Amino acid sequence: MESQIRHRLVLIPPPFQGHITPMLQLATILHSKGFSITIAHTHFNSPDPSNYPNFNFIPFFDALSNTQISSKNFIDITSTLNTKCVSSLKELLIHEITKLTHEKIVCIIYDGLLYFIDSLAKELKLPSIVFRTTSATNLLTYHACAELQSKGYLPLQDSKSCDLVPELNLLRFKDLPIFNSTNPDDFLQNITKTLSITPLGVSLEDSSLNQLQHLYKISLFPIGPLHMIANDPNNNSNKTLQESHNCISWLNNQARNSVLYVSLGSIASWEEKELTEVAGGLSNSRQKFLWVIRPETVNDVSAWSESLSEDVKEGMAARGCVVKWAPQNEVLAHEAVGGFWSHCGWNSTLESLCEGVPIICQPYFGDQRVNARLLSHVWKVGLEWCNVIEKDEIERVVRRLMVDQEGEEMRQRAMKLKHVIGQAVTGSSSDSLNGLVKCILSVNI
Ligand code: UDP
Repeated sequence: MESQIRHRLVLIPPPFQGHITPMLQLATILHSKGFSITIAHTHFNSPDPSNYPNFNFIPFFDALSNTQISSKNFIDITSTLNTKCVSSLKELLIHEITKLTHEKIVCIIYDGLLYFIDSLAKELKLPSIVFRTTSATNLLTYHACAELQSKGYLPLQDSKSCDLVPELNLLRFKDLPIFNSTNPDDFLQNITKTLSITPLGVSLEDSSLNQLQHLYKISLFPIGPLHMIANDPNNNSNKTLQESHNCISWLNNQARNSVLYVSLGSIASWEEKELTEVAGGLSNSRQKFLWVIRPETVNDVSAWSESLSEDVKEGMAARGCVVKWAPQNEVLAHEAVGGFWSHCGWNSTLESLCEGVPIICQPYFGDQRVNARLLSHVWKVGLEWCNVIEKDEIERVVRRLMVDQEGEEMRQRAMKLKHVIGQAVTGSSSDSLNGLVKCILSVNI
């Protein structure tokens, strides 16, 4: 960097793993471009500073109650952060600005969920950029939701409708990320911001990106997949859950493409009754599986395991490996893994695509249904199924992906997409990153 004064960026993630991880990846990438990095974060779910000795971590008061924290209610937590953190973050940022001597905060990069930061940055006269941890296609659905709202169609009469949403190509009404109880204004709040960074499945979303730019005239910097560029194993680590590396030794002893990796990310989970059905379905499928069961999924895992029928216990012992938290990127990159049963969070979706692993889609909420639709009907590397958590259905869908010709064809298509994504990392994504750096520097000259 030419200037004597060093340029510092403040990055602000919300306290969700699927948002913290890509923000830290972005920070790692921008640090490699010469910026100093500050991460302003909530106390709840704070990242582990010891993994990032080069970054400055500053916590702000998040006003979250213990009940909110234990409920893990995404909407409720997001809403509290947007309404109750303005003054604590403002105080913190003012303190940071005044204490810097040989550095200048040149830009705030905040997650799109924390839209209150837009006006705060303006008040502090700091340039800001929105970081979106979701697909361009999902961003387009916000526009569709606004249209539906203006025509009086929200809340939807039939949220399970399979009719296609006008102008959203293959998306159906049931794929829309609408929380019926929530005013979609919240989601639309800062969609029209001029500067956005999005960790896209680059090249796979050109059409949605073009549509977004056409609709909103925004400058987008599609950079990604971020984990491939940042290439830092710590970015994915979870402070509260120890990653199990034993599962890698277990994978080392399995045949190529023989293992189904099963994980619902950091928030979604099965109820205990469903967990029993999943165990039955996985066991009866007679396929090898690596299964992430986060501790909060079930009150007492050993009691639950004991309660399983003898044949399911046997199947689990013979063909399964169960962990609390997996080194997911390493798992997906392992040659033994031939399929992923996923909730289709955007990070998991991209991580799977990057390794050429096809997906059994079990979306829960938000953008997951959009991602599932992209995987199954646009890229054709995901299986849409009835989503009924019942052991016979599960056995069928697992065999469709792991044994049948249908699954084999998906694996081949997924390998082709992996190649396309790899090329984009060094091509369009790299250009976009250089454009972003130039843009940040130019607004500060
Ligand atoms: N993850 C992981 N180990 C696990 C489960 C999840 O490292 O056992 C990571 C995964 O690699 C991904 C993130 O947690 O980066 C989950 O993000 P995603 O957007 O897929 O879903 P969310 O948790 O936000 O619903």
